[in-house]
Amino acid sequence: KFITLEGVEGVGKTTNLAFIKEHLEKYNIPVVVTREPGGTLLAEKIRQLLLDADSEAISEQAELLMMFAARAQHIKHVIEPALAQGNWVISDRFTDATFAYQGGGRCMKVSTIEWLEQFVQGPLRPDLTLLLDAPIEVGMARVKKRAVIDRFEAEKMSFFERVRRGYLVQMELYPERIKLIKANQPLVEVQRAISEALRV
Ligand code: C5P
Ligand code: MG
Repeated sequence: KFITLEGVEGVGKTTNLAFIKEHLEKYNIPVVVTREPGGTLLAEKIRQLLLDADSEAISEQAELLMMFAARAQHIKHVIEPALAQGNWVISDRFTDATFAYQGGGRCMKVSTIEWLEQFVQGPLRPDLTLLLDAPIEVGMARVKKRAVIDRFEAEKMSFFERVRRGYLVQMELYPERIKLIKANQPLVEVQRAISEALRV
């Protein structure tokens, strides 16, 4: 199975990813954990270029193509081989993030993203997506405490409102695949909801 974890900054993706891994391993499921942008040597280099807050202004077209360039590497070198060997792959972000950030946040055309999705992924889609959702202020309060703020995290609140809305639109389009997890409740409750969604 291919499972992705999504959500705006600071909703607790990292904490819950560790929980998902442990939870699945309790049931003896072989798990490969990875992330986007990144997951391979080249894709991690692209990630650094994308997140560098001191970079020259990156055009939104370049940003979109770099996301998909990283994804192409990630699919070929990590996701597909791991799935072929019978692992469950858990990815911290995948293409829903592109619809949310580059589509919602940067206002790029959905049809362009859909074309690239088809071009880069062919039929590959996640089997299940957990969307951690909370009001923007909750996540941003956590992000502000971080030592290093990346190029995306430095965006305005209105950007993250559009990202959040972008995620919710994806959920409405794919209700069977994308499960909403309310992230602004006690961690045990969040993790109970995640276990339920995983159904193992
Ligand atoms: O660690 P984190 O998942 O937050 O880092 C990835 C960064 O890349 C995020 O800041 C997110 O805003 C950004 N991103 C993006 N578009 C994607 C995937 C990630 O803008 N498709
Ligand atoms: Mg971040």
